[in-house]
Amino acid sequence: MSQDNSSISFADMKLAPALLQVLEDVGYEQPSPIQAKSIPTLLEGKDVLGQAQTGTGKTAAFALPLLSRLDLRKREPQLLVLTPTRELAIQVAEAFQTYARHLKGFHVLPVYGGQSYEIQLRQLKRGVHVIVGTPGRVMDHMRSGKLRVNGLRALVLDEADEMLRMGFIDDVEWVLEQVPSERQIALFSATMPKEIRKVAQCYLRDPVVIKIVQKTVTAEGIRQRYWQVSGLHKLDALTRLLEAEPYDAMIVFVRTKTATVELAEKLEARGHACDALNGDIPQNMRERIVGRLRNGQTDILVATDVVARGLDVKRISHVVNYDIPTDVEAYIHRIGRTGRAGKTGDAILFVSPREKRLLKAIEKTIRQPIEPMQMPTAKDINLQRIQRFKQRVCNSLSEEKNEFYYQLLTEVQQEEGVEVMEIAAALAGLLQGEEPLLLPEKSKPAIGDKRGKDKAPGKRKRTTETANLNARPLAGHPEVEMQRFRIEVGSAHEVKPGNIVGAIANEADLESQYIGHIEIYEDYTTVDLPAGMPKEIFQAMKKARVCGRRLDISLLGGKPVRAGAAGNEGGTARGRQPRRKAGGGARPSSVKKGKATRKKPGAAKRSR
Ligand code: AMP
Repeated sequence: MSQDNSSISFADMKLAPALLQVLEDVGYEQPSPIQAKSIPTLLEGKDVLGQAQTGTGKTAAFALPLLSRLDLRKREPQLLVLTPTRELAIQVAEAFQTYARHLKGFHVLPVYGGQSYEIQLRQLKRGVHVIVGTPGRVMDHMRSGKLRVNGLRALVLDEADEMLRMGFIDDVEWVLEQVPSERQIALFSATMPKEIRKVAQCYLRDPVVIKIVQKTVTAEGIRQRYWQVSGLHKLDALTRLLEAEPYDAMIVFVRTKTATVELAEKLEARGHACDALNGDIPQNMRERIVGRLRNGQTDILVATDVVARGLDVKRISHVVNYDIPTDVEAYIHRIGRTGRAGKTGDAILFVSPREKRLLKAIEKTIRQPIEPMQMPTAKDINLQRIQRFKQRVCNSLSEEKNEFYYQLLTEVQQEEGVEVMEIAAALAGLLQGEEPLLLPEKSKPAIGDKRGKDKAPGKRKRTTETANLNARPLAGHPEVEMQRFRIEVGSAHEVKPGNIVGAIANEADLESQYIGHIEIYEDYTTVDLPAGMPKEIFQAMKKARVCGRRLDISLLGGKPVRAGAAGNEGGTARGRQPRRKAGGGARPSSVKKGKATRKKPGAAKRSR
């Protein structure tokens, strides 16, 4: 976090005690710069015009103060948040749910295109305090009179420039026209094109402009690289890095106190000498922990920004930004923990696809590009492991003690009548122990459908060419003919099975029990759906978006399959067609069968 904010703590702000409690629960140590500035302003009831992108903590920057100002006794919409996409609406609604954990009786409702009106209307009728939605659907509900905004006290425009880019600005203005004149507005945008400035001029009243100004700095002597999080989980990536990258000592930065402890424990379990360092640890203990790193008793510290500020340990050769920092200045502070005393250092940043903008902002401030890096593959790691293992054996060849073992093994050979190499191989296995020497070299799907358990995942190659083209029959509806489709979103985009089921159920108006096996690969997913999808639904699904990406659905080449017609290679007999929801009618309330894919229809539910 930047230094000018270091004196402000969450406790200094006049947030409701229930919210301060949550911040303690989730382990936020300090407000991010955008939070430090917008929370007090919004708490005072002023309008805010904030320039901030995803990853800066802007959701909490508006959610915490506006939640503090709600009157929970009134069961009417008091706060409306407009977001450009359905995913963001769900994400923001979930964040509200988290931050309002200790606010009794609180209700938030995400409303977005694609989901059935009925669910949203039912929830609206029950009474909600906060609505988070995409402009078009919010407008529909307002027009139909189902969403009444006369009790609205505040409105947030989140990612306003994205809403402009996606052509929603007229809808946004329409909504702004309808809300009561006595209301507070917070407008957040990563960039400030003139159309957004115009909206701000027209609708915001004397806004406090919040822009986190970055001083241009250079970080000399530090090699900076970033890894685009994809395919591997961050923990696996870090473990590979620790194995492949020659380092002396390392600081791994995470965002929360809780994360320092969790990650340090995981690294310890993987055999690394590691400590957690966070603001809950008393000062004298912190000094001891740093002392342990300095004198080589440990090699890794997993830390938050606050505690690591000013840390000066010469042997720190590497800084890993496991969680991207909330602002550029924090990044500069973090990487400055290496390259001390005239030495060179290495800084590695993990960036998820949604955090790319923050990466760009960092590059602009440090006035240099950060080089992309590849994580070492399982094959690279295995080559190193083999090399090291051989070296270990060779180092042992010249040792005197072998004389004794020579005798002993000669006896084994004579007694058992086996070849020397057989004995040697057995000993190598003993030396290695339970943990296999090599990593599996074929990547597994990042998230598998639970029903896929019966397969041996390591045996299948996860590439487009070899993904199984044939669908599986539906266990619950063996009569329905299924086909396998491909959608262009995968684990690299952080998609979950629930997102996919939700999008397909909404766009194809298909009861979710007819959505079959889902297999998520690195950059795409296969999903089994009833054969013979009508053309217009297919087109709608092509355009539908999940995790900010178009589904771009396509049919894989396999034959239609249904149970009983095992393999059904001929594929001529048409199976029964599944039920589609009549006229956007009721969604399946819940479907059991323990499918990993059953979560999404609860997006609305989760928020209750
Ligand atoms: P956002 O920019 O709102 O998408 O937030 C990015 C991430 O930062 C989310 O995972 C938040 O939970 C996390 N976050 C937000 N504020 C803080 C904070 N003050 N300290 C630590 N993590 C935070």
